[in-house]
Amino acid sequence: MAALPESKPTPMMAQYLALREEAGDALLFYRMGDFFELFFEDARTAAAVLDIALTTRGEHGGAPIPMCGVPVHSAEGYLARLIKAGCRVAIAEQVETPGEAKERAKREGTPSSKALVGRAIVRLVTAGTLTEEALLEPRRANMLAALAELRGAIGVAAVDVSTGAMVLEECTPENLGAVLARLAPSEVVVPEDWAPKDLGVPEDAILRPRTGFASDAGVARLCAVHGVATLDAFGTFTRAMLGAAGGLIAYLDHVGRGSLPLLLPPVARSSAGTMAMDAATRGSLEILESAQGGRAGSLIGAVDRCVTGAGSRLLAEDLSAPLLDTAMIEARLALVQFWRDRPIERASLRDALRSIPDLGRALGRVVAGRGSPRDLGQLRDGLTEAARLHHWLAGAPDAPALLVDVVGKLTGHGALTDGLARALVPSPPTERGSGGFIADGYDASLDELRGASGDARRAIAAMEARYREETGINSLKIRHNGVLGYFIEVSARHADRLMAADSGFTHRQTMKDAVRFNSLTLHAEATRIAEAGGHALACEEAHFETLVAAVVDAREIIAQTAAALARLDVGAGNAERAGEADWCRPQVLDEACLEITAGRHPVVEAALARTGERFVANDCALAPDNRLWLIGGPNMGGKSTFLRQNALIVLLAQAGCFVPASTARIGLVDRLFSRVGAADNLARGRSTFMVEMVETAAILAQATPRSFVILDEVGRGTSTYDGLALAWAVAEAVHSQIACRCLFATHYHELARLAETCEALSLHHVRAREWQGDLVLLHELAKGPADRSYGLAVARLAGVPANVVARAKAVLTKLEATREATGGIAAGLGDLPLFANLRDPEPTPPAGPEHQLAEALKAADLDALTPREALDLLYEWKRALPR
Ligand code: ADP
Ligand code: MG
Repeated sequence: MAALPESKPTPMMAQYLALREEAGDALLFYRMGDFFELFFEDARTAAAVLDIALTTRGEHGGAPIPMCGVPVHSAEGYLARLIKAGCRVAIAEQVETPGEAKERAKREGTPSSKALVGRAIVRLVTAGTLTEEALLEPRRANMLAALAELRGAIGVAAVDVSTGAMVLEECTPENLGAVLARLAPSEVVVPEDWAPKDLGVPEDAILRPRTGFASDAGVARLCAVHGVATLDAFGTFTRAMLGAAGGLIAYLDHVGRGSLPLLLPPVARSSAGTMAMDAATRGSLEILESAQGGRAGSLIGAVDRCVTGAGSRLLAEDLSAPLLDTAMIEARLALVQFWRDRPIERASLRDALRSIPDLGRALGRVVAGRGSPRDLGQLRDGLTEAARLHHWLAGAPDAPALLVDVVGKLTGHGALTDGLARALVPSPPTERGSGGFIADGYDASLDELRGASGDARRAIAAMEARYREETGINSLKIRHNGVLGYFIEVSARHADRLMAADSGFTHRQTMKDAVRFNSLTLHAEATRIAEAGGHALACEEAHFETLVAAVVDAREIIAQTAAALARLDVGAGNAERAGEADWCRPQVLDEACLEITAGRHPVVEAALARTGERFVANDCALAPDNRLWLIGGPNMGGKSTFLRQNALIVLLAQAGCFVPASTARIGLVDRLFSRVGAADNLARGRSTFMVEMVETAAILAQATPRSFVILDEVGRGTSTYDGLALAWAVAEAVHSQIACRCLFATHYHELARLAETCEALSLHHVRAREWQGDLVLLHELAKGPADRSYGLAVARLAGVPANVVARAKAVLTKLEATREATGGIAAGLGDLPLFANLRDPEPTPPAGPEHQLAEALKAADLDALTPREALDLLYEWKRALPR
């Protein structure tokens, strides 16, 4: 028997398969009526992620087609879950009505019963390009980044599509990891043939055609977006930056199918302007996320008192990119001080801010073409409230410069807010399709249309009463549904009376216990409603477009107002936080000091407070001649906490926040390094001793005398000897070669001997006391070496059985006796010369014929040579080389 012939795909299947192909690696949401349907593998993936039923529909290639679907009206929630699970989604919408499809079929000569509604992919939904409120976290920026490489320099373009803020920067390949760690983008786009390993580019980076990343393409796209002839007014950008910007906009164009989201003028950011922190440092300081993930337990979780999402987002930006410019830091601190000194006004400000909608994101949706009447209402309310704040704060006595600057940006939207206020109802709906958002009295012709349909509605209500009377059927009702429109309904037992040929009613539908009719008058009124309604909708739609256009025109100053409100919120929020626990205004100086009295760790302190325990404040006093503190003492004694609290205080200060201390004098830190010995990370299953060493090596290569380094038990992840040797070498290098400020926590007593040779190193320990055989940890820092390890006492504290502890004590006594006799494992280390220069010495130029050849080649002016002369030279050089 011959094989079954391949059945020709139905037109719909052919259409689906073409769109499926176009969607690439994205799931295809295929619009069918009120549902987005998914088929084949897409259906399996989505059903698993969304936990919805997988069914089948028809067949393809002889097998049933797996299918699942989500209702269009609740699609956002499902999209959010798919995006969270790492999926990308292509939305295929119906781009014509069934009527239009029939018309088209007629023109094309196909039977109109076969007419298939045209569909097209209108948008790709990806993690980095979201604007919908439901898909975004209010307190977190959502970054999309694109990278381009140009002769060793890497351009980074980053945008928060939800607010349009765009930043361009350039970095070296070595620093790319740190830049990406700071931006924490949810999507990264790179040229397709450039997938550098080891630079920190995520594996799931999106590959896009290289042509989009050309720097002149970037210039052209930026100019086009902003309607300018040159970018000069926006700042100076390198070619690598422009290439990245080009790649970024090309990608946005691709996912938006030709419609771009809100993009504000690009801002050039120089990495020289912010404190450098690499990924390991950010991770160990738990700045925006705790090690467990999430805000709880992170620095921002303990600091953020902002009352708006935009404020929290700006604070996150401040904390991820602390400043290096003392004037800018002082400006932020002065703003905090202003609100700190005015608790009553601060409370009013925060009340006002709390009620202000997220202007930046509403603007983002409107400009992206996904705005709703509610978004316009939010812009109206937010901008009006901003103007009220302006009125209140303008000319405030003793206002610091940043406040004056910010307050100046709160106003200037009068015409727009007036227009929106007149046009919109008080609380416009999120749905724009059913109208009802344009206020009565705004447009006389709209009022008339509404009047007409209102009259018709009233006429229908009156008709019901009249029909009841005429037919004598009291249960007669005039009802409405989406399929039949208006109809008259009576129960089945009354139906006969209306069925009579001369009754004036025409039968439409028989249900189980009801029968439905139409009448000429009802039909006429219903048509009046439908027509007026349709015209009214079209009229509202036209007004909507006009209002949107006005918003789009004002997008830049609206964005400035949104940013100004966020800065106010951050300033007042920081003041609020400072007031809660008496945080102080740090002094930021230009000398290599770090003097903190009564410093606290904001996260640990808050955690202790929840259990009613008190945090013990500790001082830190680093100076050029006492710049490395070696900190010993028992486990659980508070070493790690002390190290981190000082790093966090530096970070907070340079971010322009008050700090958890009584006083703080902080010399500007250009780079902050935090390293934690491998064992602490083992639980996370990723850090190995190797990683620890790679990260430590980065300090030795990148730290400067202006840097601040905290080293927490570095070297712990290996055997005692190796670990001690490494810790020793690293401490020495940091002290003598980098000569930067450093806190080094260690459990190696032997390191104390470093104090004999390192003049700027001093010994400290966290105090503990044995009391009635128990160990009491005082969490108090004191001068001098740790006297003993208390390891056994900690073991007892941890519940190791007494007989085991006793045995360990006997072993320890024996070991200590040996140590006394031989000088211990560090015996003789004190005599070692300081480690030789760790940084590679200058390479000595090679001598010999190869070198001379290279020099000759360098000196040759190739453009001035004839081909003959060139050939002669080649022969000559070849002769000069040893055979
Ligand atoms: P170490 O690094 O010395 O082992 P940690 O810094 O990890 O110690 O501190 C262990 C625990 O001790 C912390 O989780 C905290 O509960 C408590 N602790 C640390 N420092 C302090 C302090 N200054 N005041 C009060 N409790 C503290
Ligand atoms: Mg520790």
